[in-house]
Amino acid sequence: MPTYKRMKFEQAIQLIEKLEQQHRLTEAEYLQLLQYRFGTLPEWDDKSEEEIETKRHQLDEQLFVLARKHQQQVFGNRIYVRGLVEVTNYCKNNCYYCGIRRENHRVERYRLTKEEILECCKEGYQLGFRTFVLQGGEDGYYTDDRLCDVIRDLRSKYPDCAITLSFGEWEKESYQRFFDAGANRYLLRHETADEEHYSVLHPREQELAKRKECLQNLKDIGFQVGAGFMVGSPGQTLAHLAKDLMYLQELQPHMVGIGPFLSHGDTPFAKEPNGSLEQTVFLLAILRLMNPRILLPATTALATLSQSGRERGILAGANVIMPNLSPMAVRKKYLLYDNKACTGTEAAQGMEDLRRQMQAIGYEVVTDRGDYPES
Ligand code: SAH
Repeated sequence: MPTYKRMKFEQAIQLIEKLEQQHRLTEAEYLQLLQYRFGTLPEWDDKSEEEIETKRHQLDEQLFVLARKHQQQVFGNRIYVRGLVEVTNYCKNNCYYCGIRRENHRVERYRLTKEEILECCKEGYQLGFRTFVLQGGEDGYYTDDRLCDVIRDLRSKYPDCAITLSFGEWEKESYQRFFDAGANRYLLRHETADEEHYSVLHPREQELAKRKECLQNLKDIGFQVGAGFMVGSPGQTLAHLAKDLMYLQELQPHMVGIGPFLSHGDTPFAKEPNGSLEQTVFLLAILRLMNPRILLPATTALATLSQSGRERGILAGANVIMPNLSPMAVRKKYLLYDNKACTGTEAAQGMEDLRRQMQAIGYEVVTDRGDYPES
């Protein structure tokens, strides 16, 4: 592990400037930056709470200004929207953090039929969406045959739209079939890049190595790939976060999804504290500087954590929002965490409010499919 160093405000700023110019830091440098911002450091000892807060606020501001500069250089003031369809909350996995884990017997399970999925996308198309994200648990009913059938129908009905999938881990052959059927993008968060921490969050049968293999396979097939992690998940340290950033620096995904961990009352992590807004937006800004072209959502979890979460995310460099297109009747059943926002501007039906919300902070919601800019 990197050695612990004392750091001054000016050095923290230098690290941010280095990241801005070179789009990469060493693991030790990421850790130093995170420790300076979120750790308890010896150099804080002789400072008052107020002085510390002021410094941290100044650091945030400088970081966010640079993140916005790069966000604007590549994307202008455009914010892309993706319509999210939560296809099934059946899941064979047992992730300790997740509300729809296999062993949560209090969930009312549902799965949408193909017709229902198509209906959601039809409504989404009319509302202006040109990317559909189909997400769900790892549900045995949705075999690759059945998913391919849905993908093919969507592809022929909406040749101008991007189709994004988020259904967890599959063999490479299945991913290839999804791709050949017409899917373009795949979201699979790595959750944490540290083996030991991975085993704090997941039962033994789930392995980080497998996750990484899936992500590599998806990339090799030609998907635009999204990885990512939860911020403030139980057992997470700043060193783990530095490792997450290093992993993403290697993988070079096209999208990165991060959001605060939020506890769910019917999981083993019911009593664990939520992740923080400050840490999430700080990391969003770092991710923007690591890759100015990255597609970076201000997630539902961030919007759930705080009223202004989504705006704060955008102002830290995020450029994607994923409103909910699922049928109203099932929205309250796809609960990964407590109090999940799914109405108001979180809902696809709240697009007008969303536009206004974004305009108020100087951004414009656009409806093109917003692929990863290759150059
Ligand atoms: N089954 C799919 C979709 C998972 S849900 C898959 O495995 O990829 C999408 C993301 O929600 C997960 O990757 C996880 O990072 C996040 N998530 C799950 N439970 C959460 C919680 N309690 N708080 C915050 N985010 C959570």
